[in-house]
Amino acid sequence: MTYEDSEIAKVWSTILSTDKYRLMIGDIADNYPMKKSVKVDYDDINVQDVAFAAYLLEAPDRCMEIAKKAVMDLVPNIDRPGQSINVRVFNLPRDAKVEIRNLRADHLGKLVAVEGLVRKVTTVKPRLTYALFRCARCNSEIWVEQTGMFLKEPLMCNNPDGSCNKQATRFIEDLQASSWIDTQKVEIQERPEGLRGGSQPERLTGYVEDDIAGLVTAGNSVTLNGILRSAEKSERDKSTVFDIYLDVVSVDFEQHEYDEILITEEDEREIIAMSKDPNLYQNIIKSIAPSIFGMDEQKKAIALQLFGGCHKTMDDGTNLRGDIHILLIGDPGVAKSQILRYMSYLAPRGIYASGKSASAAGLTAAAVRDDFGDGRWTLEAGALVLADKGLACIDELDKMTDQDRSSLHEAMEAQRISVAKAGINATLQCRCSMLAAANPKYGRFDEDTSIYDQIELPAPLVSRFDLIEILTDKPNKKHDEQLSSHILKTQMRGEARMAPEGKEVEGLDIEKLMDDTSFLKPVYSIEKLRKYVAYSKRIVPILTPEAMKIMQDSYVGIRGLGGGKSVPITARQLEGYVRLSEASARMRLSDKVTDQDANNAAELIEGYLNKIAGNGDGTYDIDKISSGISSKDRNKLDIIRSIMNEFGDTGLKLEEIAQHASNQGLSDSEVERAVKTLHDGGELFKSPSGIYKRA
Ligand code: ADP
Ligand code: MG
Repeated sequence: MTYEDSEIAKVWSTILSTDKYRLMIGDIADNYPMKKSVKVDYDDINVQDVAFAAYLLEAPDRCMEIAKKAVMDLVPNIDRPGQSINVRVFNLPRDAKVEIRNLRADHLGKLVAVEGLVRKVTTVKPRLTYALFRCARCNSEIWVEQTGMFLKEPLMCNNPDGSCNKQATRFIEDLQASSWIDTQKVEIQERPEGLRGGSQPERLTGYVEDDIAGLVTAGNSVTLNGILRSAEKSERDKSTVFDIYLDVVSVDFEQHEYDEILITEEDEREIIAMSKDPNLYQNIIKSIAPSIFGMDEQKKAIALQLFGGCHKTMDDGTNLRGDIHILLIGDPGVAKSQILRYMSYLAPRGIYASGKSASAAGLTAAAVRDDFGDGRWTLEAGALVLADKGLACIDELDKMTDQDRSSLHEAMEAQRISVAKAGINATLQCRCSMLAAANPKYGRFDEDTSIYDQIELPAPLVSRFDLIEILTDKPNKKHDEQLSSHILKTQMRGEARMAPEGKEVEGLDIEKLMDDTSFLKPVYSIEKLRKYVAYSKRIVPILTPEAMKIMQDSYVGIRGLGGGKSVPITARQLEGYVRLSEASARMRLSDKVTDQDANNAAELIEGYLNKIAGNGDGTYDIDKISSGISSKDRNKLDIIRSIMNEFGDTGLKLEEIAQHASNQGLSDSEVERAVKTLHDGGELFKSPSGIYKRA
């Protein structure tokens, strides 16, 4: 169906004369150029004329042109060349939604809605639309529309009576009085949950102009409504293959993080029934990466992370993070990467990235100058920003860049990243939980050294994790037998699944084999678990006095273990207790945090502290985590310091220091480590001949 121009104009004028749009246009007439867009809800067009609404998607350029004219007719005072009012249609219907990977030649010139995460934005720059020139002889004004890359000048003076009506005159440009609009280039990428089977996200460039430029920033989850256009790859080689880009008409921001997950009434009934199952916690743990054997402790922690604690805004505006951060440190080949990949798939908004990622933005964000910006600065979002309101799975965290190292603290605690560079001044949100994996310092845990000493991450960073899980891989006959049997059965079940249905193999009972390995099937399907998690986020449980008592006792108890000298645990860990217990309550869809939830949290925290900060005698020393130096080590440092105070002016060789220190019970390797710490800290100098002196 096609429409005459007059018919199109008629539909628009009916829509625009309704109260809603009359008021809007009146407001624009009064406040131009502060306000310069009529925002038309697609639903209103649809209500007015269904067939026309469909036609608008097919022939947007023509329809919008006429709409613009209709609006301009209503505001006669806006008439200078280049001054105009935009018509921005938003809230496009489902059938206008196209995934980036499905954009085809058919969509060129059509109005489409493309969802994605904003990965890159350039700085906003003005573009000249109409340039004003004055004739050097008669001073008459000449407006020239600017379309290309280079400034177009008038060819001749247009004053009909002037003596200058010939080409000999000169023109003086008046850029200040010319018409400009703001422009910005953005790049969106497909949402992670749209991706199946680990494929790479596809990207699309969009041009955002005028009053909507600068509205979106990296990490936003948006729907760009716009007209798909083609652009030639380069000016030089005229080719028939074109790049596509979106000429953005309007931007819809996503309202709720779990909107993508639709929960029907039937789902709701099922979810509530699930929540009453006494085996809920176990069932959820069994639904997390069933093909990975064991790791119950880790899966428990990850299950709680999935539900998360509650984000809180206090009376004074302070924000308290609800997201739980977990660090897995372990020997190679213990399925760290595998569980991260699984979780990035399972969790809504899950992103998997490696610490040594090649992108300029790295894990957080960066301002870069690259091809994308055509010489402009570009703000690029890294993994944590893209995982906003989701789960960031960061593998090989120990291999991250120095830039990430310095920006990660802010990202994890305050959940935002500030970028201030080259005119870009942005604060990006990264309200995500982080599940990170790292290898120990020398690639594999060494039993003789304390676990803490083998974490090759800055102490302030480590202390921001709510839980740190240690995974060691020591030969153990029973465990090895179970693990190998599990892995082999996984493979066998996989083979049987791939076989054509009803296939029979002599000597093998395939049906029985599937039955025997049914433990590899998640108790709750991924789909179901996702819905359950999404539903649980509606609940904000509140601490009960019993739960508070348990957490307080555990906290105060552990603080006491430091013996008054070292501080075994800090308030940061106390917040961790709260987050974990809230997650545990949420998992049951309970609006109260009970003693059971507090115990779940205490068990996990005491368990990890024992492994990582235990002094081997039942006492903990969290100072190892927050400063990197345990109280025992601190004593060692003091011993070396006093030796150096005595001999520091003449200087001592390492062996000599060791000799002095051995009287006080320090071994050679302990001395070596302590001297190195002091040297690294700038307290000691080392001469080229190996003599240490006080700094
Ligand atoms: P990491 O990242 O810890 O070095 P990977 O995740 O790459 O290790 O795991 C190596 C391989 O070992 C994977 O293919 C995984 O299937 C197997 N594997 C290791 N531990 C387990 C386990 N507990 N259960 C099942 N498979 C395992
Ligand atoms: Mg790995």
